[in-house]
Amino acid sequence: MTVPFWVAGKPATGTGTTAVRHPFDGSTAGSHHLPGPSDVEAAVQSAADVADDFATLPAHVRAGALDHISRRLSERAEEIADLITAESGKPLKWSRGEVGRAVSTFHWAAEEARRFSGELQRLDTDPGGTGRLALVRRVPKGPVLGITPFNFPLNLVAHKVAPAIAVGAPIVLKPAPATPLTALLLGEILAETALPAGSWSILPLGNDETAELVRDPRLPVVSFTGSVPVGWAIRDSVPRKHVALELGGNGAVLVCPDWTDLDFAARRIATFAMYQAGQSCISVQRVYAHTDIYDTLQEKVLAEVAALRTGNPREDGVDVGPLINETAATRVESWVSEATAAGATVLAGGRRSGATVEPTVLADVPEDASVMADEVFGPVVSLVRVSSVDDGVARINASRFGLQAGVFTRDLPTAFDVSARLKVGGVLVGDVPSFRADQMPYGGVKDSGRGREGPAAAMADFTEDRVTVLTGL
Ligand code: NAD
Repeated sequence: MTVPFWVAGKPATGTGTTAVRHPFDGSTAGSHHLPGPSDVEAAVQSAADVADDFATLPAHVRAGALDHISRRLSERAEEIADLITAESGKPLKWSRGEVGRAVSTFHWAAEEARRFSGELQRLDTDPGGTGRLALVRRVPKGPVLGITPFNFPLNLVAHKVAPAIAVGAPIVLKPAPATPLTALLLGEILAETALPAGSWSILPLGNDETAELVRDPRLPVVSFTGSVPVGWAIRDSVPRKHVALELGGNGAVLVCPDWTDLDFAARRIATFAMYQAGQSCISVQRVYAHTDIYDTLQEKVLAEVAALRTGNPREDGVDVGPLINETAATRVESWVSEATAAGATVLAGGRRSGATVEPTVLADVPEDASVMADEVFGPVVSLVRVSSVDDGVARINASRFGLQAGVFTRDLPTAFDVSARLKVGGVLVGDVPSFRADQMPYGGVKDSGRGREGPAAAMADFTEDRVTVLTGL
């Protein structure tokens, strides 16, 4: 069945169709209709038309819709997990995990919609303000254009749609071309709610059409999750818009000499270096281990990596599936070759078959090799021996990225000191950087982005203060 896209809350069939491929074997994961220019126009104009009414829709109605979406995602979890795996190649266990996270993202957005409010500010702290009070309300900045990447086809869509509904901002969602089917299925659930017709549209557009949409003045907020070059190019193309950027990184871990549970550290490093075949913005890419524990940690990481099962993501028990396509896998393979030509040692893996890259562990990698300095977005981790905690912090901070970092230490002063000095959006103490709770503020610094996501943070981002000064009180 060819599924529709969504314009102003209604299914639409547009100008043509396209198939979506399963990355593991190229079979068809599904197909969808393609929007034409008149569909895009209708989606944007209806968002602009409904903006004022949507902003004043009672909070209990918006929260009720979000609760409904959360519940229905939970009820349809297995079907949705299958679809995520079919279009993204993500192993089924991780697809199930993603659905659970999206259930939580909509749940937290419902909670936040109920408590989202402004403040009452007294102005008589200065003589000129005597007898005056300021009522500060949070109002939507306007309709939101949400643009999402392929690697979390549901939960990153949830992180755009849920906060927009929570504050009453219409949203036009543009899912990734490789994985649009899950977002289009979410449309079925959104259509069951009583949200106003123009308040949401889901348009599976190509990149050029999206670049044009970015410039549309009727969409004053752009919330983008994706790669570093595309994100910053979007921001540069619309300097007057509010553009939030959730971009890539080269996630690092520091293992301090006091950390004794090296089995746990090795398991977490191996799991989250290879999780989703490394296609997570916070996967473990660089491991800086203190020389006192380096050799033992390396041995244990290699044992954990050897125990991972690579193969068909639809089979239960498979840990590592394919990359999103063969082009991505070929790039990763070439980066490994570049590193070895520059002196790196391959401790495990290193080979490619079709879109699948073996879980790969490298050592002796020059810091300027692409596998260290850029975002690998593949199942490749580099192990580095450091002489001190300060040495590790300096090397982590030398990156142009700054999303999250992990530090394995049990020493509280070290934990506080290191987390204060690391130039990243979040530090995980006692863990790898790959953990994200969906309600927490999440985002990066430096090239990794601008702004924070998570329902509460995105709701603040999608709104602005509207002040009413009450006089004579
Ligand atoms: P991408 O940048 O290629 O695409 C992301 C989205 O942007 C897609 O919907 C794509 O169609 C659209 N797009 C591409 N070119 C465009 C243009 N010129 N104008 C407007 N839109 C355009 O990224 P991807 O390969 O889908 O995703 C992987 C990247 O996303 C990685 O860099 C990863 O780190 C990042 N990511 C970041 C986070 C985060 O929260 N920080 C989460 C997941 C993924």
